Amino acid sequence: MITVTKPDLPPLEEYMEYLKKIWTSRWLTNNGEYVQLLQRELVEHLSTKDLVLVSNGTLAIELALKVLEIKGEVITTPFTFPATTNAILWEGLTPVFADIDPETFNIDPREVEKRITQKTSAILAVHVFGNPCYVKELQEIAHRHDVKLIYDAAAAFGVEYEYQPVLDYGDLSILSLHATKVFHTIEGGAIAVKDETLSEKLRLLRDHGIKSAEQVAIVGTNAKMNEFQAVMGICNLKYVDEKIQRRKRLYEYYKRKLSKYVKFQKLTASKYNYGYMPVYFDDIGKRDEVYSKLLKNGIEPRKYFFPLTTSSDYFKRESVDLVKKYDLRKAHDISNRILCLPLYPDLKTRDVDRVMRIIEDTLDTKES
Ligand SMILES: *Cc1c(COP(=O)(O)O)cnc(C)c1O
Repeated sequence: MITVTKPDLPPLEEYMEYLKKIWTSRWLTNNGEYVQLLQRELVEHLSTKDLVLVSNGTLAIELALKVLEIKGEVITTPFTFPATTNAILWEGLTPVFADIDPETFNIDPREVEKRITQKTSAILAVHVFGNPCYVKELQEIAHRHDVKLIYDAAAAFGVEYEYQPVLDYGDLSILSLHATKVFHTIEGGAIAVKDETLSEKLRLLRDHGIKSAEQVAIVGTNAKMNEFQAVMGICNLKYVDEKIQRRKRLYEYYKRKLSKYVKFQKLTASKYNYGYMPVYFDDIGKRDEVYSKLLKNGIEPRKYFFPLTTSSDYFKRESVDLVKKYDLRKAHDISNRILCLPLYPDLKTRDVDRVMRIIEDTLDTKES
């Protein structure tokens, strides 16, 4: 079976060396030596000011909304992983949806502006598949309307926009370090933060609000990364650049092989990480045909992001068609055409060739 992705693993001996050290120290979690070391290594690697490491990317979004004291409405995209919308609702906030730009798949700044009301207090934009949003336009809108700008940069590890780390844009950005991402700590996440008051508060929030042995300063939660996660990150970080290079070669190989049959996401990054291989089909209906045929041949692509998060069951109870309500035509359309093909560093080019032949067969047969 060829799956859409395969988690990277470092050489087992390297991970084992760290496990021995953890066994000796018996320090397993609570901002241990290796969480601190990984934090410093990541700040350096990503050339960002500061990172607060947490246990997963979803909690990172929740803490970002919490620490900025967001209230009321949050403008966001429906073309994303469920966590983006869930986190808004989990924090007791109201998601307000804006349509996407059909070329980059990212939230369209003009649509964002149309959705701003008196109740808006933040924009939660997603760098879809790690591909940067139009950050300058969003910044300008957020500034003009005095609302916060948060990026779900879950898939944007190491990505740059106009030669700047993409994590530097907006008030806060979050990363997911989940096993399926380009760089991972099994489960994990991070919040990129520029303001020291915020980073201090985030560190309290992730650890029950505990300031010292006898003082709980604020209402916190438990979002701590543990030492086993951290050492996975330390091991993986040594190889990540090389893995991204391999991903890039495969991405470009796909592009050469498939350009006659499908369309690709318009990349805006000055440096990209090639985390996904999204393609979309002109002829609606072909997506599902290709999907089933690949499955039959032992290849498992994924329809990221289908359905839109506005189709979640919990919205159905309200019996309002959110696609109509917020005019999400483009997101709806792309979601019906998109398919993420297998892409991971040790995928073989002959497997890409197999995918290519199946797509070619599916698209050619009906025409003749
Ligand atoms: C992976 C992902 C998340 C969730 O991150 P977890 O670490 O799995 O909680 C959120 N948003 C996007 C866009 C993602 O790709």
